[in-house]
Amino acid sequence: MRFEELSLDSRLLASIALRGYTETTDVQARTLAATLRGRDAAVQSQTGTGKTAAFLITIFDRLINDPSGRSGRTLIVAPTRELAIQIEGEAKLLNRGLGFVVGCFTGGVGYDGQRALLKRGVDIIIGTPGRLLDLADKGVLRLRDIRILVIDEADRLFDMGFMPELRRILRALPPPPSRQSMLFSATLNRLARQIAVQHMNETEFIELTPDEVTVEAIDQVLYRVPSQSKADLLLGLFHELKPRNALIFTNTKHYAERLAGKFERSGLHVRALTGDLPQNLRMKVMDDFHAGRFPYLIATDIAARGLHIEGLEMVVNFDLPLDIENYVHRIGRTGRAGRTGKAVSLACEIYGDKLAAIERFIGRPIPVQKATADLIAQGMSLEFSAPSRAAESGGSRGKGQGRPSRPWRPAPHSA
Ligand code: ADP
Ligand code: MG
Repeated sequence: MRFEELSLDSRLLASIALRGYTETTDVQARTLAATLRGRDAAVQSQTGTGKTAAFLITIFDRLINDPSGRSGRTLIVAPTRELAIQIEGEAKLLNRGLGFVVGCFTGGVGYDGQRALLKRGVDIIIGTPGRLLDLADKGVLRLRDIRILVIDEADRLFDMGFMPELRRILRALPPPPSRQSMLFSATLNRLARQIAVQHMNETEFIELTPDEVTVEAIDQVLYRVPSQSKADLLLGLFHELKPRNALIFTNTKHYAERLAGKFERSGLHVRALTGDLPQNLRMKVMDDFHAGRFPYLIATDIAARGLHIEGLEMVVNFDLPLDIENYVHRIGRTGRAGRTGKAVSLACEIYGDKLAAIERFIGRPIPVQKATADLIAQGMSLEFSAPSRAAESGGSRGKGQGRPSRPWRPAPHSA
């Protein structure tokens, strides 16, 4: 369906067109059909299907059609700072020509600016649970004034243990019939349904992929490889495939950093994104990757949650995910909005036992390719053929070229 077929305000239609959207995605068509009539909705749809614009367009429609007492009326709760920032970005793009005030309220940022902004009045408040509650406790954010609520990536909020904070927020809001509430999730699990039943009003449940998870647009391959050869294989593969950009997932920050070091010593421009990085650096790394200032990003699931990059060509499961649903979350970042992408998974002796469950979950086997000795040798030779930045900068890692490769040992878990 075209956005023009929805009875939206002409200024909102213009900003949607300016954003470059003409046809709704499936989830947008189904969601808007309910929410533009004022209904509460709990929406399940896989990553990359356009849920953000689905709720933002609803919000802008509401704000435009009811300009009374605008300030402090919309609250969007997101699990991570990065996701909140992404939602803010999309909201600002869609806000062009509309003139609402959009604000992002997450931890890791000083209180003063946030307090001042809230005092002046914010139409669309986007934030993470902890900081939102802090601001509410300090009396700066009046949750009683909220008329529209969005809970984004609900499954992730639960996974990250935010249920108690979320409940506290929900209890401080006006009762469900006095607000419009929307919940979005890649899966509508028991907890998501519980929230919808207890804290939302006559909720319409919208499920786009009820039983099977489809990641059809993505070209998936799997290599079986011992953990000690994974990094060399990946280097060899990158040398052969030369992806324009890639997001590489490891299960631990330790691996993320080790792998980044190895890539760097092979002359590849890479950064690691882990929960250890201070907030401002994480934002900078995300921005730079987004802007294409470096092509390869190595990240853990938590650090990369919600991150999406336009035109991401390849996703690598350097480690198969421990949580099988993350397989879909991870590879769903490529091949977004109709484009095709490539997903490479490395199954080793440590995480390989997840494979059967992943294949059951996606409903089919992942095609296997052979991890040839040539590819691995190629990767090994690359590491020392490039000038070692670590050695140049006097880092503890390298003492020059030609030293034997350190074995890639499994590390204890800590994501
Ligand atoms: P989700 O929240 O479902 O994971 P996002 O809201 O992050 O998905 O959207 C995924 C991508 O699709 C983004 O790059 C977004 O700009 C793009 N997108 C969303 N809606 C449309 C549309 N109607 N037409 C084209 N691209 C869209
Ligand atoms: Mg989303």
